[in-house]
Amino acid sequence: MPPYAFFQKQFMPLSEAKIGILTHALHYGTACFDGIRGNWDSEQERFCLFRVKDHYNRILNGCRILKINLPYSSDKLCQLTTELVRRSGYHEDVYIRPLAYKSSETIGVRLHDLEDDFFIVVTTLPPYLGIGEGVRCCTSSWRRVDDTMIPPRGKICGIYVNSALAKTEACETGFDEAILLTHDGHVSEGSGENIFLVINGKLVTPPSSDNILMGITRDTVIKLAKNELGLDTIERSVDKSELYLADECFFSGTAAHIAPIVEIDHRPVGTGKIGKITSALQKLFAEVILGRNTKYLDWYTFLAKSQILNSNS
Ligand code: PMP
Repeated sequence: MPPYAFFQKQFMPLSEAKIGILTHALHYGTACFDGIRGNWDSEQERFCLFRVKDHYNRILNGCRILKINLPYSSDKLCQLTTELVRRSGYHEDVYIRPLAYKSSETIGVRLHDLEDDFFIVVTTLPPYLGIGEGVRCCTSSWRRVDDTMIPPRGKICGIYVNSALAKTEACETGFDEAILLTHDGHVSEGSGENIFLVINGKLVTPPSSDNILMGITRDTVIKLAKNELGLDTIERSVDKSELYLADECFFSGTAAHIAPIVEIDHRPVGTGKIGKITSALQKLFAEVILGRNTKYLDWYTFLAKSQILNSNS
């Protein structure tokens, strides 16, 4: 199946969805986006789209920061997304990328007096971090962008230059992923993931004031840890050296899922193997994103095989 898009108020093959080279967002990063998973359950033969409304509420917040006028409610955006997945004909895990942007084809940096547009594309996504044996990280020489520079809670396109600089530096020096610190040296997050530490049987994760994106997987982890494992999460600033002393450490993110971190700056995390709490959370998370835990029905949008168009299996 070719990837499919909702673009300029219509559903179409991705190959037909084109923008002009003067588009404002391309020049100035004046856009915000999100990433949503559609998880294919091959036993139940259905998709579970995970926490779609939460992702759209976040994109709508980004639009407020960027003065982008989206003519859709979050409910309408959820409907459009389900319809796009239905029309795309996939029977495998999909990744859904909505993006709201300044669409005027004009030169001049600003947010005001510009047209806005919006698209959603659905495609597949190869495994995001090679997590078989766990992720090897470095702390980055790049500092996380501060709320007073470009607000990180907005998932704003331009901010991802910060992530890309850190990710490529990490990969080119032989690591899998970077951990960015804030300008004052506290742990913030990975290039595209939030970070958790396990310290003395409790989860610890940086707060929103340390310039993280408020991750939906982060929120899922906090709730699963509390409800299913009876573990509290402490949201507080984390020193860099705490990374070296934590018992366990992992990333959370829609693309990355729960990814165990086994090494940071050439030091093993805990035993250097995937920790018990991390692996318990991975198991719970894998069930929940397939829609199999009925306690969390609010998080799920199901799409049965019989509803999918252009069946290709
Ligand atoms: N931080 C950054 C910088 C990200 O890009 C992402 C991915 N969206 C996350 C954290 C994790 O957020 P979520 O769990 O909502 O995908």
